[in-house]
Amino acid sequence: MNTLTDRILSRAHELGFVCAGVVPAEPLPHGEAFRRWIDAEQHGSMDWLARTRDARDHPEALLDGARSIVALAASYHTPDARQRPGEVAMYAQGYDYHKVLEHRLETLAGFIRAETGQEVNARAAVDRLPLLERDVAYLAGIGWYGKNTMILNRDQGSYLFLAELIVDIDLERVGAPMKDYCGTCTRCIDACPTGAIVAPGRLDARRCIAYLTIEHRGPIPRDLRPGVGLHMFGCDICQAVCPWNSKAPHTRDWPFVGRPEVLALSADRALQMDQAEFHATLQLSPVQRPQRAGLLRNAAVVLGNTGDRRWIPLLIERLRAEPQALVRGHIAWALGRLGGAAARGALAARLEQEPDPYVQDEIRVALDES
Ligand code: SF4
Ligand code: SF4
Repeated sequence: MNTLTDRILSRAHELGFVCAGVVPAEPLPHGEAFRRWIDAEQHGSMDWLARTRDARDHPEALLDGARSIVALAASYHTPDARQRPGEVAMYAQGYDYHKVLEHRLETLAGFIRAETGQEVNARAAVDRLPLLERDVAYLAGIGWYGKNTMILNRDQGSYLFLAELIVDIDLERVGAPMKDYCGTCTRCIDACPTGAIVAPGRLDARRCIAYLTIEHRGPIPRDLRPGVGLHMFGCDICQAVCPWNSKAPHTRDWPFVGRPEVLALSADRALQMDQAEFHATLQLSPVQRPQRAGLLRNAAVVLGNTGDRRWIPLLIERLRAEPQALVRGHIAWALGRLGGAAARGALAARLEQEPDPYVQDEIRVALDES
């Protein structure tokens, strides 16, 4: 006979989730490991993680009377043919997953209330609550912790958005921690271009391209800019090389399939966007997260990393016209990296007029190194 839990998980699948389980709302097992990571400052400038250092392994504190957590995952695995300057990570090629999945969780909560006839209290978690979401997924058997730190499912791979619905009713447990199927493989560690996976299952976010291009505010450290390569927003390398992802099916979840306007967004185009175009092009897209200045900063680094001097006229034009100092500073770096007489001449001319001390410093270093 169908139990309430069966019906909830069946409804979750109808809503588009590809993996589901249920665990009790109890303290999670990897809180200490998380705290060691924070204490080693490997979270970089993601201060919200440090502020919630002691809370993230306590889902029971997120809802009065919390009893159970419905653990869910939706796939964003799409065919990826992008091989040009300005790559956008796969998770960000569709619509903003927070809004899409929070809406689905609210629908699921409504379903639970209708099924039980009770005023069930529920709280949706999609990346915005202080919660070790990977730990919930691990406990529910959605996947194991890969050496790249992602939750890996044998059928669905790791291109997964995680989502949780915390409820104040008892549901039967579904799923249990699974065996680690990484085995002797180290492809993700070997492929990471910046050495950010410092040990199996341990990420130094400060070196990770995803952190540097999405979460980090301000200048990207100069020594890390070459390692950013052609990645304008995020990085999929440690997932792309994983053999489990090559077997995983592509998603049929339409909000997460690549949007043409995002797939068409190259670094040179991004570098020419004003604020109005940035908002219009990237409405409801995760690519808005670093704001215009952060995205254009990344675009400048990407163009510098192409090694292609055909971008120099565009970079010179943007160095003159770009209103934000952060972006001008990275354009100066890109010109220095591409080098040549035209780039040097433009940098020297700009230094005469540049009002911002940070950009002046970037120009001087670019002139020294070009
Ligand atoms: S996302 Fe990219 S930079 Fe970050 S750990 Fe994975 S491969 Fe390395
Ligand atoms: S690439 Fe290999 S080691 Fe890394 S997560 Fe995948 S299976 Fe595990």
